[in-house]
Amino acid sequence: MRIENLCVKRLIGEAAGATTHGHKIALKGGYIYQTFQGGYTLSPLGWRVVRNIENIIRQEMDAIDGQEILMPVVSGADIWRESGRYDTVDVLAKFKGRSGTDYVLNPTHEEVVVDFVKSVLETYRQMPFMVYQIQTKFRDELRARAGLIRTREFIMKDAYSFHETYEDLETYYNRCLEAYKTIFARCGMKNVVHVLSSTGDMGGSVAHEFQLINDMGEDTIYLCDCGFNTNKELIDDESETCPKCGAKMHKVRGIEIGNIFQLGTKYSDSMNLTYTAPDGESKHPIMGCYGIGVGRTMAAILEESADEKGPIWNMETAPFAVEVIGLSDKEGKTLPMAEKIYTDLKAAGIEVILDNRDARAGEKFADADLVAAPIRLIVSAKNLANNAIEVKYRVNDKDTTNMPTSFGLETYLADTQNAISELLK
Ligand SMILES: [Zn+2]
Repeated sequence: MRIENLCVKRLIGEAAGATTHGHKIALKGGYIYQTFQGGYTLSPLGWRVVRNIENIIRQEMDAIDGQEILMPVVSGADIWRESGRYDTVDVLAKFKGRSGTDYVLNPTHEEVVVDFVKSVLETYRQMPFMVYQIQTKFRDELRARAGLIRTREFIMKDAYSFHETYEDLETYYNRCLEAYKTIFARCGMKNVVHVLSSTGDMGGSVAHEFQLINDMGEDTIYLCDCGFNTNKELIDDESETCPKCGAKMHKVRGIEIGNIFQLGTKYSDSMNLTYTAPDGESKHPIMGCYGIGVGRTMAAILEESADEKGPIWNMETAPFAVEVIGLSDKEGKTLPMAEKIYTDLKAAGIEVILDNRDARAGEKFADADLVAAPIRLIVSAKNLANNAIEVKYRVNDKDTTNMPTSFGLETYLADTQNAISELLK
């Protein structure tokens, strides 16, 4: 990719309408574009980051035996009436088809997945299993805010597990909880905690939220040194005393990026999903559900780690691994060399972007801060005279002090690949 062809509008100066630091950087870098209040188009940069996050999620869901499926955005109102949520979920967007059919835009997919699993599940021998999807959802929220933090339309990973016993659900729930820790760590987020939370619209018994501790967060959470963490809604506001150890808890703000629920039989019961148990009896499976806001995860990464210049991705989330910057010289040597390096890296399968524009160095560096490739190769007349290219790193979770500041021209390809593998370690 050449930067002049990248379908992205980067802004110089302030981003109008940005309410938080991360939102400002997302707009300045042209990662998102507001199509309607609460609905965003992801530019090629934003979509690359979101796809990278999706791939991390896929790998970790597959690692806990998840099976990916895809359910429709729209469903008939009948299954929502069946579960009893058609009139109780306030964010449910409803519309009528031309033939008079009632439809909904699914804000979550318990009803749809239970309806699907009815067509599959026959006996206890098939359980446990988990299905998940990465899919667009719509919630008719009264207010949208802070870019991708609270939107009306959003991409979510939602997973649903089915079990014979509560013990089995609990075992799987804990596996999923561990997988979530891995996902957010791989995304480069540092201050993520899981807190006990209310089950809200979902129903069920036990639930946890994954919260990124951040002043921009909408949620108030309480953390205790003993390891007990909880959402404000679950405790007596007056006391702030840990129900587990009695100590005073710390009050912080959090951005909710994921949640997990032990649903029990709420949906299998109301929608009459059954299987044949070992004793021949017909029973309702016990369910868990597990969500991650994918776009919101990108927004949360920006809130946590972006600096004044731009985002700081890690090697797993960055839209490009390498940016090659050619700084033009009088002899006309640098730009062809930058072009050659770009072509070689691309041929080696490295995700690379080239900036060979006729522009000032300062402008190129400012744009590079917004594209935020973890590795930058700078081709200048001064370095070429020494048969070298300069390398600069921009990563949020690696110590690059011992990494090389320049590569020899003959070995840059191998050196870049080594630097990439170093950054991925
Ligand atoms: Zn405590």
